[in-house]
Parts: sequence; C-alpha cells; structure tokens
Amino acid sequence: MEALPCLPGCGAPTIPGEVSSRACPYYGARWLLALVKGALHLVHAPVGCAYYGGSVRGKAYRMLSTALDEKEIIFGSEAKLARAIREAVRLFPEAGAIFVYGCCAAGLTGTDIDGICTAARRRTGRPVVPVGCAGFAGTSQGDGHAIAAAALVRFLVGRAPPDTAAPYDVNVLGEFNNGGDLGEIEDLLGRLGLRVRCAFTGKADITALAGAHHARLNLVHCRRTGGPLAEAMAKEYGIPHLPVNFFGLAATAASLRETAARFGRERMAEEIIRAATTEAAPVLESVRRHVTGLRVGLYFGASRVGMMAAAFRELGMDVVFAGAQFGLAEDYAAAGAHMTVGGRLKDDASQWQLEDFLLRERPDLFVGGTRERFLAHKYGVPFMVFPQKGKPYAGFNGFVNFARDIVKALRAPVWQFIPGRWAHVLGD
Ligand code: SF4
Repeated sequence: MEALPCLPGCGAPTIPGEVSSRACPYYGARWLLALVKGALHLVHAPVGCAYYGGSVRGKAYRMLSTALDEKEIIFGSEAKLARAIREAVRLFPEAGAIFVYGCCAAGLTGTDIDGICTAARRRTGRPVVPVGCAGFAGTSQGDGHAIAAAALVRFLVGRAPPDTAAPYDVNVLGEFNNGGDLGEIEDLLGRLGLRVRCAFTGKADITALAGAHHARLNLVHCRRTGGPLAEAMAKEYGIPHLPVNFFGLAATAASLRETAARFGRERMAEEIIRAATTEAAPVLESVRRHVTGLRVGLYFGASRVGMMAAAFRELGMDVVFAGAQFGLAEDYAAAGAHMTVGGRLKDDASQWQLEDFLLRERPDLFVGGTRERFLAHKYGVPFMVFPQKGKPYAGFNGFVNFARDIVKALRAPVWQFIPGRWAHVLGD
C-alpha cells in the first residue's frame, strides 16, 4: 500500500450543461443549519428551493418559504420578505432565532436581505440571521457550509454571559449525529471527564450556540463542515482546535489520546483505549476473516471519504475507488493514503462514471449515499449507505457496528442468486 501520486482536479466550477451531484451552496447551508433546534427556517425564493432544502440527510424538517412568483421577481420582493418574517414570528412566537436563506432569485434581483434582517432583529428582539447562499455564491455544497458557519458565529455564538465554570468543556464541530454517532463520542469524552457543550450541529439549540464560545477546545470531526467554524471561532474567541477522527479503532484511539493530552488526562485515555480494544478484538478478528482482501468502492460527502478509507483498510479490505461530490485536494490525499495501488480517485463523479466503475471493476462492496444505492443494486453489487442510519459507526462500539454491517451487506442471502460471483464471499 502506497500513497497515490495523482490527485484529481477539484473545486472548479461545473461546466454549464454537465449534470453534477455537488448540490448548491444553499443546500450546503441547509446541511449545517437544518438541525439547529428552536430556530425557524425561512427560504426567500421560489417554492422549488424550499422543497429542495426541506429534507436533509433523508429527514424532513419544517421550512417556511416566501414562495416568490414571477411578479415579485420582476417588481421586487423586499416587502414580502419583511411581511413573511413578521408572520413567522406571529405564528411561532417561541422561535429563538430565524434563519433567512437568500437563494438565486433573491440574489439575482439584488434583494437587500441583510437590511431587512437587521430591521427585523431590532423589531423582534431576536436573532434574524441572513444566510446569503444563492446557487452562484460558490461551486458546491461545500461553499454553503462556510457561509452557514460564518452566519452562526456572527449572529448566534457568543451571546451568553461569561461562564468561568467550564474548564473541561469542548465543542464538536462537523458532527451531525448520524445514527447516534454523537452519543458514542460524548460517552468517550465523558469518560475522560470532558463535556460536549455544543455539537455543530448535531446537538445545537439556541442556548448551546450562545454559550459555545466558553468551550476550551474545538474538536473538528468533519473538516469540510467543521473547518470554517473552527477558524472563525479561533479568530473571534481564541479557541484552539484539534482535528479528530472517531471512525476506526486506531483513529478513535489516536483522537482520544490527543484530546486527553490537551487536558492532562493521558492515563485515563490509555485505560479507556485498553478496555475498549480488548472488548472489540474478538468481533473484529472474526470480521477480518470474512472481509480481508475484498474490494470496496466509496463515494459520498467530502472529508469523510479519507476517514472511511482508513476504517475499511483497518479491516483488511482493499479500497479500489474513492470519490466525493465536493472534495478538496487534502480530502483526496487522505483517501489516497489508504488505497490499494492502482485504485482510482474521482471528484464529482457522474452517474455514468459510477456505472462504469461498477461494471468494469466489479467491487465486492460499494458505499455511498441513498442515491447510489439503487445503482449498485441494479448491477448486483452489495451496498452500504453512508452517512449511515440506525446505529452509530463512531467510537469503539461504533466500529464494531460498522464491521458487523459490512458482513451483513456482503452475506445477504440475495447474492446467492447471482451465479458464481459471490462464491468467494458466501463460501464459508
Ligand atoms: S441553485 Fe439556486 S435556485 Fe437552485 S436550489 Fe440552489 S438556490 Fe435554489
């Protein structure tokens, strides 16, 4: 195994007319903000944008929309937005904040969303947060993460009064609690005596966000969503940050050690790691017997592609393809470091390119988002969804779940109906 020398070009704007799965900055902002509890979400756009951003990670969230029509796009929509904010506050007086998403139509017509939000903040006495995330504000969903992060730090973080009783508080940035991952992470940190004050945004309500600047350390779990937040909070409040990875036994142990070292709790970390690895060893050994040498392709998000490549490698699997919808060079470098020689890295793959990979290379397992599931199944390739649903993959217990799920996906009885292909997997 060697680092791949050739990284794909990435981050360039999509060529008009090409079908891309990168999503738009507005969807990236939704990805980060949809989970914030106690806030209203108002989309200033034709109703299609609200429909598009209404469901995030497969879950539907309440959305309000100004539902712009042609007349308002031509003659202006500022009065309508001000009215909509007033109506939203009247209908939902308990709302602690309002996010106002400015989409393409509002951006193209020059609607003064910032000015309207400023006036509404004064009038309502609560944060009315402009999120300028029109489709043309960036090249992908990733740019929307940065826009949303800046809005959170500017309008919500730091509003709570000083709190000196938090010497062991941390924030987790870029963690969305898929399948209960955050619970595992909180439990591990809790055993070190650390408290998760706010997770952006898996555990983020208006109060937690207001006091997040009191944390002593920011742990960055997803670089693409957490990185901009970490930098903004370091600049604004001087909070140091540490990149962590809780996917995989080795990565979890390393992250725990580094976190513990910041608080002088190294011995506690060693005890936790020793107990957890001893407990996980028998299951992982048995899984390795089934999966070592099998070939896997990955296609999802961005920075987690490197984390997951390392996790599959830890189980002895060969990562032969790794791609992301909006990865950066460092994401591909991280994935490439855990891939088989000759494996392919692909940025923003089209459906045709994924099909080509499935048909030509016939991997033993493909891992992707919900969209890729049907493609893999149509070509008779076992599939795992990631980010996962149902159970945690993070931490020591999560890695055991992950390993078991791989075996379950590979050994599903349905594959016996594909003659010959799966004999090496179903054999023993
Ligand atoms: S590209 Fe523009 S119009 Fe399309 S969903 Fe994104 S913000 Fe809305």
